[in-house]
This record gives sequence, C-alpha cells and structure tokens, in this order.
Amino acid sequence: YIFGEKKATEVAHLVWKHVVREGDTVVDATCGNGYDTLAMLKLVADDSGRGRVYGMDIQADAIKNTSSFLGETLNPKEQELVKLFHICHSRMEDIVPLFAPVRLVSFNLGYLPGGDRSIITKSDTTLLALLSAKRILIPGGLISLVVYVGHPGGREELETVEAFASELTVYNWVCCKFQMLNRPLAPVLVFMFKR
Ligand code: SAM
Repeated sequence: YIFGEKKATEVAHLVWKHVVREGDTVVDATCGNGYDTLAMLKLVADDSGRGRVYGMDIQADAIKNTSSFLGETLNPKEQELVKLFHICHSRMEDIVPLFAPVRLVSFNLGYLPGGDRSIITKSDTTLLALLSAKRILIPGGLISLVVYVGHPGGREELETVEAFASELTVYNWVCCKFQMLNRPLAPVLVFMFKR
C-alpha cells in the first residue's frame, strides 16, 4: 500500500504535521501497535510537558502492544504524556478532558496487523466515534482517517465515512479524500479540516 514512495499512514502523518502544534491535545482512536500514537506524541511533546495523546483501542492486546512499544521508544517524561485506554472509540468523550484543545483525532481503521482479524472497526461505532470527534475538535483541527477497503465490510465503512464527511457544512469544514486511482485495494485517506 505505497503512495508513490510513502505508505498511506506516512502520508497521513505528513498532513498532521501541517496542523498539529507542540502542546496540543490529540486523540488516537485506534492505537493498534502504537505507530500512529508515537508519531502523534512526537508532534505534541514540548519542553513544558503540555502536549497530550489520548489513545484507545477495543482490544487489550493492542493497548499492551502500544504500551510496550512506547516504553521501548520514549523517555519516561514523554511516556507520561500518553494516556492509554482499553475502550471503544465511540466513548472517547469519557476520557478526553472537557475543554482540552483537541487538534487531531486519528482513525486507522480495520484490524490489528498481526492480531485477531475478527476484531475489526465497524461502521456503526465508527460513525458514533466520528460524531464524538466532531464535538471535541477545536477550530483549526483535523479528523484524519485511513480506511482499508480490501477486507469484507471495508467498502461499507468507507461509504459511512464519506457520507459523514459529505454532510458537514461547507462553512465550517473542508473535507477531502486521497485515493490511489490505479490501485483499487489501496487504503483511502479521508481528511476533515475544521475551519
Ligand atoms: N494505528 C495502529 C498502529 O499504528 O499500529 C493500527 C490500527 S489497526 C489498523 C485498527 C485497530 O482498531 C485495531 O487494533 C483494533 O483492535 C482497533 N479497533 C477496532 N474496533 C475498535 C473500536 N470500536 N474502538 C477502538 N478501537 C477499535
């Protein structure tokens, strides 16, 4: 799933870089093995320790993997900035503090690579999570999604995401999708920028 020379997730990280600032609060709605969580932490961590990453996954193994990956990669001060929760992302408002300046909510949908493929994101909870993300995002923020279409249910989930994005008011949102035209099974990126 290479976009030119970059993977889809790396392209998403490049977009985040233009939006996220040191000291921001960001949300990783699908921690998995923690690679996105790490990329987010590197963007928000500052010397005064203000940045925060709230990460979640519905799978205990994913939280374990993310926690040990970050434990190996980050220094103790950086580790303190990441808060991990074993919950469904439709409940993100239960864990992200009220009035936190959330600049990015990221979804990397589908199943855990190298894990249980039956535990997979589902359109109905993805939609609830998108509604939560929309409520907690500050102006200037971004909802970012990597949507996999090669597995059963993937296309339907993309349709749900696209329908959600298409209905956001043009006055407050800029919504776009990034898709490989000559690779129909490559993941699709969807970005919703809040004005
Ligand atoms: N971002 C991850 C990384 O960098 O390694 C990869 C994420 S993986 C493609 C998708 C993850 O979503 C899986 O770990 C899966 O357990 C998780 N997931 C599935 N349904 C979920 C839900 N309702 N709420 C939160 N996480 C969910």
